[in-house]
Amino acid sequence: MKQTLTRDDWQAMADALTIRRQAFIDGKYVDAASGRTFDALSPIDGRVLAQVAECEAEDIDRAVAAARRSFESGIWSDAKPVQRKRTLIRFAQLIDTYGRELALLESLDMGKPVGDALAVDVAASVRCMNWTGEAIDKVYGEIASTGPDELGLVTREPLGVVGAIVPWNFPMLMAVWKLAPALAMGNSVVLKPSEKSPLTAIRLAEIAIEAGIPPGVFNVVPGLGRAAGEPLARHMDVDGLVFTGSTAVGKFLLTCAGESNMKRAYMECGGKSPNIVFADAHDLHRAAVESASGIFYNQGEVCTAASRLLVQRDIQEEFVGMVVEAGRSMQPSHPLEPDARMGAMVDETQTLRVLGYIDKGQSEGAQLRLGGKRANTVEGGCYIEPTVFDNVRHESTISREEIFGPVLSVIPFDSEEEALRIANDSPYGLAAGVWTRDISRAHRIARKLRAGSVWVNYWDGGDMTAPFGGYKQSGNGRDKSLHAFDKYTELKATWINLKA
Ligand code: NAD
Repeated sequence: MKQTLTRDDWQAMADALTIRRQAFIDGKYVDAASGRTFDALSPIDGRVLAQVAECEAEDIDRAVAAARRSFESGIWSDAKPVQRKRTLIRFAQLIDTYGRELALLESLDMGKPVGDALAVDVAASVRCMNWTGEAIDKVYGEIASTGPDELGLVTREPLGVVGAIVPWNFPMLMAVWKLAPALAMGNSVVLKPSEKSPLTAIRLAEIAIEAGIPPGVFNVVPGLGRAAGEPLARHMDVDGLVFTGSTAVGKFLLTCAGESNMKRAYMECGGKSPNIVFADAHDLHRAAVESASGIFYNQGEVCTAASRLLVQRDIQEEFVGMVVEAGRSMQPSHPLEPDARMGAMVDETQTLRVLGYIDKGQSEGAQLRLGGKRANTVEGGCYIEPTVFDNVRHESTISREEIFGPVLSVIPFDSEEEALRIANDSPYGLAAGVWTRDISRAHRIARKLRAGSVWVNYWDGGDMTAPFGGYKQSGNGRDKSLHAFDKYTELKATWINLKA
């Protein structure tokens, strides 16, 4: 196989691609009960990629029923851990085998550079599935501390049917973060991908069958936002609801869970992450390059985007100059260019939303240092220049709201206390970064930051070994690591009277 592909190679693959476009229920591709479809548009050039099954309540019912039947049959839920382990590892291998196809689908469907889709989305999905599979037969129950007359067993049991609703920014990876631990613990799953990026999830269902996941254990119901998501969230036969997406929808889903059957509900939501750079950072140039890629990578459509850059005032001019230079080198390119650093925004709606924030930044008096406009990268496509606003007031809209686009707000500070106050003064608490060579200060700040992930002297560190999730309105529960299993299991205490 050719090691690296050119844009022409990717285009030829795209032209030859067979795109799966139906729902996947009980091991088979099926149309929506209504027969309706919606268009999957490519933001690369506005082309219609496929007409995708538009699932609604009736389809959700069918998928949940299939998931319930498979769960109760025990075919997966009662399978020995070692068997589930082997199947998930095979699943991981197949994601790798089909990696180029999956990366291409992701890039065409939501606009990210195909190189990133392959090196990050596919690779991380493989790692997640593999790591989680490996862990299955290494998780033990507990024996309670008792006297000699009784035995207390603490065991983990699968929830049953898990509904998963995921976003469009890392469509396959966010699905796999839910799917892997849910399947690992023996649950059956109904997955609703975003209508803006359903194609990899639909293909993944077929790959799961090839890996040996029994029919009905993993179902995919593409559909439009609330029309498909709400029936899943309110379903009386769904035991757990896991979500990645916006805070507004996460809050709504919590009420759906509460108003229906009190299903377990875990939400991974938005962010407005502070990236704090002190004048004594080891290598300001590297800090600037990482600060730029921290906001412009994936077109800024990242929940942990380094969207608020807090810079110590002494180095503001010099540092922001370096960030602007690094940002300038990340102009959007055609996403099938192998070395593209930024691709297309997910769709026209998101493009206009982000441009609206850029207008707002200017009208609120922030100083535009880079970008600020739509880019004409490909005709009919959705592209925005990397944009940097300096001297942003912390109280202003672009500093407080999640933009989810390539727009950086630079906020100067003088003291450590002021940096911490600004960093924590946000409804969000997903991630944060600190750059300093003073190890005591790094620890002091890391402890005080109200965020689920803190990175010291780099941005976006970590792997499958640590939990990922948010404080405050960035969500509850954690994805990744062994802690993820908590979301997909009930703990049972079984007491045995030894004197009987
Ligand atoms: P979104 O909330 O609009 O949509 C997410 C999912 O919910 C989609 O599948 C969508 O179809 C569905 N949905 C939308 N409205 C619904 C409703 N009323 N009822 C039920 N389902 C509904 O989010 P998005 O625009 O797809 O994704 C961007 C958001 O995701 C950002 O806020 C980002 O920060 C967040 N995100 C968070 C993480 C994390 O791990 N914390 C990771 C990635 C993205």
